[in-house]
Amino acid sequence: MNPYRKLGTAFILGALAICLSACQKASVNKEMQSEAPAPLSAAPPLITGERIMAADSAPGEWLSHGRDYAEQRFSPLKSVTDTNIEKLGLAWYYDLPHRRGVEATPLIADGVMYTTGPWSLVFALNAKTGELLWQYDPKVPGEVGGVACCDVVNRGVALWGNNVYVATLDGRLIALDRNNGSVVWEVETLINDTDPYTITGAPRVVKGNVIIGNGGAEMGVRGYVTAYVADTGEKAWRFFTVPGNPAEGFEDDTQKMIAETWTGEWWNNGKGGGTAWDSFAFDPELNLLYIGVGNGSTWNHKLRSPEGGDNLFLASIVAVNADTGEYVWHYQTTPGDTWDFTATQHMILAELEIDGATRKVIMQAPKNGFFYVVDRVTGELISANNYMPITWATHVDPETGRPVENPRARSGDGSFVVVPASVGAHTWHPMTYSADTGYVYIPALANAAMYREEHHTERRKTVGNLNYDMSLLFSVPDELSVTQRNELSQGLRAVLIAWDPIANQEVWRREGGLYSGSGLLSTAGNLLFQGNLEGEFSAYAADTGDRLWNQQVYGGVIAAPISYEIEGEQYVAVMQGWGGDSALVLGVMLGQHNFVNTSRILVYKLDGKAQLPMPPDRVEQMLAAPTVEKGSAKQVAEGRPLFHLYCAACHGGNATSSGMLPDLRYRIDAVASAWQAIVMDGALKTNGMPAWKDYMTSEEAEAVKAYVVHEAQLGHERGEKRLAQAP
Ligand code: CA
Repeated sequence: MNPYRKLGTAFILGALAICLSACQKASVNKEMQSEAPAPLSAAPPLITGERIMAADSAPGEWLSHGRDYAEQRFSPLKSVTDTNIEKLGLAWYYDLPHRRGVEATPLIADGVMYTTGPWSLVFALNAKTGELLWQYDPKVPGEVGGVACCDVVNRGVALWGNNVYVATLDGRLIALDRNNGSVVWEVETLINDTDPYTITGAPRVVKGNVIIGNGGAEMGVRGYVTAYVADTGEKAWRFFTVPGNPAEGFEDDTQKMIAETWTGEWWNNGKGGGTAWDSFAFDPELNLLYIGVGNGSTWNHKLRSPEGGDNLFLASIVAVNADTGEYVWHYQTTPGDTWDFTATQHMILAELEIDGATRKVIMQAPKNGFFYVVDRVTGELISANNYMPITWATHVDPETGRPVENPRARSGDGSFVVVPASVGAHTWHPMTYSADTGYVYIPALANAAMYREEHHTERRKTVGNLNYDMSLLFSVPDELSVTQRNELSQGLRAVLIAWDPIANQEVWRREGGLYSGSGLLSTAGNLLFQGNLEGEFSAYAADTGDRLWNQQVYGGVIAAPISYEIEGEQYVAVMQGWGGDSALVLGVMLGQHNFVNTSRILVYKLDGKAQLPMPPDRVEQMLAAPTVEKGSAKQVAEGRPLFHLYCAACHGGNATSSGMLPDLRYRIDAVASAWQAIVMDGALKTNGMPAWKDYMTSEEAEAVKAYVVHEAQLGHERGEKRLAQAP
C-alpha cells in the first residue's frame, strides 16, 4: 500500500474544507482566482520520481500520463472484474465549457483529479465526488485554432513536487500550484514567434525536468524537445529532431550526423518537420528518455529532400540521455517518409521473454502499420510485423531493420491506393499492455488514400504545405471510379486488436465501427475499456475480447480511460469529446452522428447510480438549395483546391463537416453577406476562424464561396440531410 495514501487523503480532505468556498468562487471568476489564490494551511505530499516509479505499490493513483514511466496504461486494481462488471454504473460526471475534441488522460493524486479540456484549460476536481476545486484558463488566442492541424485538443497535465504542468496550444509551458491553480511560473517554449508551432501533448516530468515537444509539421516547422527544471522553469536542455540550415552552424555533433541524411534545402522547404507532439517513455535504470518523432515537412519526400536520403530523425524512436538530452540511439520506422507516417505513437516499455532471454523492449505501433519490438538498450530491431493490411511495403527486413517498399508506393501520380493513408493504421490513441494476458491492445484504424503530387514552394501557415493534393487525401473526389470511391470511403473504420508481442502476431480482433475507437485501459480485473464515435463506452474481457459491458454516453469518446481507487472503491474514468486529428476533415466519410457533441468527464464505479442528462432532441434537416448567387464554373474550379488547402482541415473535405464545426453548405445563405468579413478580415477569429487575407485575395475568397455554394447545390440534389438540434 502506498505510504502516502492515507496521509494524502487526510491532507487533501483538510485542504478541501478550506479550499471549497474560496475555490468555488474562483471557478466562477477565473480572473480573481489567478490574482488571489486561496491560501492553504496544509499541502499534500510532494510528487516525486520515486512515487511515480513506485506506481504499482500505489495502484489507487495515476501520477503520470501513462500511469508509470513505462507507459503501460495497465491498472493493477481488481475490485471491478469480468465477473461483476455488470454492476458498473456512473458515479459522477462533469461538463467542460467547450464542445470540442477531448484527448486528455486525467491524473489522480491524493484524491484529486487533474485534467485538461479543449483550449488547454486545466481542471482540478475532487476525484470521489466530481466537485470542481479550481480551474485555470491560459487564455489561448482563438486564432491559434486556425494553425492547429488537428483541433484545439490537449492530452493532459504532468505532476511534480507541488505543481501541475500544462503545455498550451500556443506554445507556453505553465506550472500551477496544484492546491489552488495559481501560476508558479510560465515559459515560452517556441524558438521563434513566426513559425506555426502548436502544443497538444502532455508533458512528462523526468528527474526533476519537465519534458515537452510540439506539433506543426503539417505547417512547416522544425521539431525539437525541451527539458525545463520543474521547480524554476529554467531551460535544462534542448534536442532538435531534424537538422537546421548547415550554414548557420549545427547545435551539436548529432545535428551534423543527421544532416548527412538530408539533401537539398530542407530548411527553406518545409523546415524538416519531425515534431515530437505526443509520445515519450523513460527507463530510470538505463537513464534513457525515448522520444517518438513525427513526419516530414513537406510530406512529399521528393520536394523536401530532392536527392533522397533517410531524413533522420523523421518517423523514428530516439533514445537520449535523460539528464543531458544527448543522443544515444535511434530506430527509424519509415526512412524517407513521404506519407505522413509519424512515429509519435504511444511507446510502451516492458520486459519480455524472447528466445529464452529476458529482453528490455520498447514497443510501438506507428502509423505505417507495422508493430515493432525494439531492444531499448541498443535500439536493435527484435521483430516487426504488420498489424493491419498495408500496401506501401511488403515486410521489414530483419537484417537491415528497414521496410521493403512497394515500388509504386512513391509514384505520387494518384493511381496507387496507399494503405494505410496519412490517418495511419494507428494514431495518437493510447494502447495498453497487460502483463496478465501478455498482450498489447491496439486501437487500430483502417483507411486508404491516393497521393497525387502538387508543387508548392511557398510556405503557408496551413496544411497546404504538404505538396500533395488535399482534395484527394481528405475526401472522396467526384472523378474517382465507383470502385475507388467505395474502397476509400468504406475503408475508414476502427479495429480493436489484441497483439502478442512475443510471437508478434494478432490474438483477436473486433471490428469497432466508424473511425475511430478511443484510447485504451487494461486492468487486473481481466478488463479492457474503450469508447467509440457512436457514443458507447464498453468493457471487454482482456483475454478473449468478448464485450461484457456497454453504456450509451451520448457523445463520441476518443481519449483513453484510467482507473483509480479512493477509500477502497475502484473508479474508471474517461473523458468524452469527439474531435481531434482527422475528425474535422473526414465528415464526408463519417457522416453526421446522432448526438450533440459534449466535452465531459465520465467516472464509473460499482453500483454507481448517477444519470447522464438525455441529449437534446434532434430533428432531420434537409440540405436546402442555396439561394445566394451561384459562381461561374471557372470560380468553382478555382475554389475547390483553395478550399482543400485552407478550409477543409476544419470544415471537412468536399465542404462536408463531421458536425463539430459548421457545415458551410448548411450555413452558406446565412453567412454569404458577411463572407469577406469572416474569411478575409477574421470577424469570427475569437471562435478560432482565422483571417485569411494574408493568404488569399478577395477574388479567391469569392471562388471558395462559389465552391461551397456548388457543393451545397450538389448535396441538395442528392437529398442530403442531417440531424440538427430541435429549434
Ligand atoms: Ca502529421
